[in-house]
Amino acid sequence: MKSTDFQHVNYSWDDSVADQLDVVERLRYRSNILGADQRITNTGGGNTSSKIKMTDPLSGAEVDILWVKGSGGDLRTSTRANFASLYMDKFLSLENIYNKAEVKGVKTEIEDSMVDMYRHTTFGLNPAASSIDTPLHGLIPFRHVDHMHPISAIAIAASKDQEGLTQEVFGGEVGWVPWQRPGFDLGLVMRDELEKNPKLKGLIMGQHGLINWADDDRACYELTLSLIERAALYIEQHDKGEKTFGGQKYRSLDEEAQNKLLVQLLPKLRGMVSQQNRFIGTVHVTENVLQFVNSVDAPRLAEIGTSCPDHFLRTKIKPLYVDWNPQKESVESLLEKLEAGLVKYRSDYAAYYEACKHPNSPAMRDPNPTVILIPGLGLIAWGKNKSESRVTAEFYSLAIEVMRSSEAISEYQGLPRQEAFDIEYWLLEEAKLKRMPPEKEMARNAVVVIGAGSGIGKATAHRIAKEGAHVVCADLSEETAQETAGELIKAYGLGIGVAGTGISGCGPAIGLGVDITKRESIKSMFEQVIVAYGGVDNIIITAGIFVSPDKNGYMPDEKWALTYAINVTGPYLVADEAKLIWQAQGLKTSLVITTSANGAVAKQGSVAYDTSKAAANHMVRELAIELSPLVRVNGLAPATVVEGSNMFPRERVISSLAKYKIPYDETETTESLREKLALFYAQRTLTKSPITLADQAEVAYLLCSSKFSKTTGQIISVDGGLHEAFLR
Ligand SMILES: [Zn+2]
Repeated sequence: MKSTDFQHVNYSWDDSVADQLDVVERLRYRSNILGADQRITNTGGGNTSSKIKMTDPLSGAEVDILWVKGSGGDLRTSTRANFASLYMDKFLSLENIYNKAEVKGVKTEIEDSMVDMYRHTTFGLNPAASSIDTPLHGLIPFRHVDHMHPISAIAIAASKDQEGLTQEVFGGEVGWVPWQRPGFDLGLVMRDELEKNPKLKGLIMGQHGLINWADDDRACYELTLSLIERAALYIEQHDKGEKTFGGQKYRSLDEEAQNKLLVQLLPKLRGMVSQQNRFIGTVHVTENVLQFVNSVDAPRLAEIGTSCPDHFLRTKIKPLYVDWNPQKESVESLLEKLEAGLVKYRSDYAAYYEACKHPNSPAMRDPNPTVILIPGLGLIAWGKNKSESRVTAEFYSLAIEVMRSSEAISEYQGLPRQEAFDIEYWLLEEAKLKRMPPEKEMARNAVVVIGAGSGIGKATAHRIAKEGAHVVCADLSEETAQETAGELIKAYGLGIGVAGTGISGCGPAIGLGVDITKRESIKSMFEQVIVAYGGVDNIIITAGIFVSPDKNGYMPDEKWALTYAINVTGPYLVADEAKLIWQAQGLKTSLVITTSANGAVAKQGSVAYDTSKAAANHMVRELAIELSPLVRVNGLAPATVVEGSNMFPRERVISSLAKYKIPYDETETTESLREKLALFYAQRTLTKSPITLADQAEVAYLLCSSKFSKTTGQIISVDGGLHEAFLR
C-alpha cells in the first residue's frame, strides 16, 4: 500500500525505517505513526500490541511475550518505556483465576482486581504498568493488535443503528460488540466473537472505537488505516453539506471582534469556573468548531455529550453551550447567560452525581464545565494546566467531528449517563488520581515575570517554573524573553495535546516583548497572556534601570526621567492595567516589585536611582492598600547582585574595581571581574557571602507562594545583611 491509497488518514509506514528496528521498536514505531494522526486516534487514546518471541532470562527458553502500550502516556510520543511486557502463558492463566470468582462479568470486583494481577506476569522486570485494555490485546489470538479511537469509527459506534451500519460499511469483515466498560470481560467477549466468526479482521466497539488485528505488524497497521478510510469514505458520501447540524443559526464574528471579545470575556469566565479550583484556559477556534457552535442543532447535540470514554473523561459528560446571538446581543448579556448557564450546569452535574452514585463512589468532583461553547466565538476549554486544557479542547473538537459524521449517516447517541458515571467515578480511575503526585505550589497559575530576559528575572522564571507555574517571560527585549521561555519549554516540555488557536496553542511558557514605560505596550502584552492562558495570576517585576551620572556628576534630564519611567511609573502602569484583569477574575493573587537596598541608604552618585527605588518602596505599600483584599503586594530589595547582571555592565564593574582599589586584569572575562566585585561587596555584609541571582529568585518565588499568604505591603531585603539598609 502507499500514501495515495488514502484520503482520510496519513499513510506513514516506511520499510527503510522499520527494517532497521528490533521487533519491540517496530511496535513503538507503529504506535508513533498511528498516534501522529488525530483522525486515527486522539492524544493519549488507543493502544497497540505485539506478541513477540523472546528468550526467558531465567530458563533460556524461547517464550511468547505480549508487549502492549501501558497505562498513561500517548501513542504519538511513546517510547519503549511506555510499553508493558507480560509472559503470554502467565497472562492467559489468569483466566482460571477470573473464572473461579463466584460473581464475574463487567464491573464486578474480580474484574477490577485483575488489573493488579497483570503485574505478576511481568517479563524482564519491566516497570511499565499494564492498562485496563491489556486483555483486549492478550485474549485476541493474533500477533499484532491495534485499538484506536478514530473519528470515523466512533461515528459509527455512536450512531443509533451502529450494528447495522457496521455491517453496511464493512460487510462481514468487521464485527460489532455493544458498549461495555473495558476490562477482562470485554476481552473475553471479543474472543468469543472471533471464535464464532474466525474471518473477522476487527470489531467496532459500541460507543467507543475500533479494534483490529493481523499476524504481521505492517499488515496490522495497513488494516487499521484501510478500515478507518472505508468508514470515512462512507461518511463522506453521506455528508450533509450546508444542512450539517441542521444548518447555521448564527454567524461568526470576524477575527478582530473575536479577539476583542475574548480579552473582555476570559478573565471573568475564568473567575466563574475557578471558584473551587483555578483553571488554565485554551481557546480553540476552527471553521469546523464555528460551524458547530453556530448551528441549529448545537444545543441538542451539546446536551447529549461526548461518547468515547477517553473524550468525556476530559470534556465531562457535556459542555456548557450558551445560546447567544453574536450579532444582536451585547457582551453584558453574554456574561449574564454564562452566569446563569453555569448555575444550571453545576446543578445538573450534582443531579447526575446523585442519580448515578454507588455507596462506595468517590466524593463529587468539581461540578464546573471544562468545555464552554459560544456562538460566533468558538470553544474554550479549561484544565488544571495548559497541557490538560489543550487536550480537552482537542477532545471536544474531535467529538464535534464524531457528531458531524454520525448525524450524516444516522442519529448521534451519547453514552448512557450511568455508564458515563461508572467510568468517571470508577474506583480504578480514582486510584489513578490518588497515585498522582500532589500539585506543585504554583500549579494552575499563569505568572508574568517582567524582566525575564536576564538576571534576576530570568532566574525567577526558572525558579517558579520548577514550582509548576505557567510562565510568561516578558522583557523589553522580545528576543531574550523568548530565549528564557525556550529554555523552560526545553526543560519541562510542551505538554501533550495539539489544540489551541494562535498563541493559545502554547506550552507552559511564552516569551513576549513589553515596554513598561508605555501603557499601550503593557495592555497588548496582557491581551496576549489572556488569550494564551485565560487570565493572569502573579506578576513579578524585576525590570529596572541604573544610570550613573557622568565623571563630573552630571545626569541629563532625560536620563533622570527614564530612571523614573522604568523604576517607578513602569511598575505602577503594570499594576494599574493588571488590576482590571484581577478584578474581573476575582481570584486571590500577588504582585512583587523589585526595589533595592539603595531605596533606604543615601549615598553619593546615585540620586536618581536611589530616590526612584525609595519611591518604589512606598508604592509597594500604597498598592498593597489599593489592591487589597485580592492582591498581596510586596517588594523585593536586592543589593549588589553582580553575577550575570545587566545592572553591572563591564565598564561599571571595572570602574567599581578601580574605585575600591581591587586588583584586576583588563583581559579577564566580565563574569570573572564580576566575581571579584561580588566577593568585595560580600565582605561589607553581615553574612559575608556573595549575593546570587538564585537568592533573589527564591524570595521572589516565596513572596508569591502561599507560604507568605498573610504578608502584604512589606519590603524584604535580600542584601546579605546591610545594617545601614535596615528598614525602620
Ligand atoms: Zn479505547
